[in-house]
Amino acid sequence: MLIKDIFLSKTPVISFEIFPPKREYPIETVYETIESLNKLKPDFISVTYGAGGSSRDRTVEIASTIKNKYGIEALAHLTCLSSSKEDIQTILMELRQNQVENILALRGDIPSEGLKGEPYFNFAKELVSFIKSEGGFCIGAAAYPEGHVECASLDKDIQYLQEKVQCGVDFLITQLFFDNKRFYEYKDKLVQKGINVPVMAGIMPVLNKNQIKKMVSLSGASLPNNIIRILDKYEHSPEALREAGIAYATEQIIDLLSWGADGIHIYTMNKPDVADTILNNLSQIRSVLTKENHC
Ligand code: FAD
Repeated sequence: MLIKDIFLSKTPVISFEIFPPKREYPIETVYETIESLNKLKPDFISVTYGAGGSSRDRTVEIASTIKNKYGIEALAHLTCLSSSKEDIQTILMELRQNQVENILALRGDIPSEGLKGEPYFNFAKELVSFIKSEGGFCIGAAAYPEGHVECASLDKDIQYLQEKVQCGVDFLITQLFFDNKRFYEYKDKLVQKGINVPVMAGIMPVLNKNQIKKMVSLSGASLPNNIIRILDKYEHSPEALREAGIAYATEQIIDLLSWGADGIHIYTMNKPDVADTILNNLSQIRSVLTKENHC
């Protein structure tokens, strides 16, 4: 099923993000994660591509397993900056052969050692246009409520986002954020610009101080004082930090759902127990929203 059609039949859409294990780990480790996430009945599961050093060639295989073994919709991430036109054509063919119909079209980060030669695709919007021209896929793209780290201003970034969406984007998923106000102001700006595709709020539970600090420095997302206090207070007690991180993410999601967010995308970090606790905290809320869908 195309994810854009899920949005037509229900909101909020709930999804999880996982990453492929590194080459030195057996692929089965991620299948245990999917097995557990499957019990939570997400609307789709996305699989990253080459992010955080994970293996690229496993993305198609894992997305295919999500779709064909577990019967859950799969969203395959795909970056283009270091790929040729032929590389992308090959991956699109493999996705098609495996009945994976949804792609998150991304540029990818500029490597710290710089680019080797002139890229064929310079920006995600070029990948979006290319996939669109090949036909048959539902296309998602990344959005940044606090602006992309390389862009001079949020308004400029939204202007580029508008161009990307016009190339054929069906829905957006945001980078992690910890202050919902940023998301609401961003959504207002998108609507003013005529960007009306569904926008899923990307939520990452804070479970590890160093990991969050790294994510924040890479992404440019801001850390509000209440998160800094939690990280400082409980950094040496993983269980306490887990409890606080889950409570914070749950509160963020309840507020987003009450506000009317189109969807919630949980960055699970391959920890299904965390996603499980968060969704259990929301069981009655989700059932009210499901009933509203049927009215
Ligand atoms: P683009 O939309 O191309 O934007 C990149 C930059 O270029 C921005 O600063 C933008 O403002 C600017 N820009 C856009 N168009 C123009 C233009 N015409 N002229 C000048 N500047 C322009 N990375 C991975 O490697 N693997 C993953 O699986 C992955 N998954 C992600 C999932 C989500 C939900 C998000 C939010 C990010 C993910 N990333 C992933 C990170 C992403 O690849 C980086 O943030 C990357 O730096 C930008 O990708 P993009 O697709 O947003 O690029």
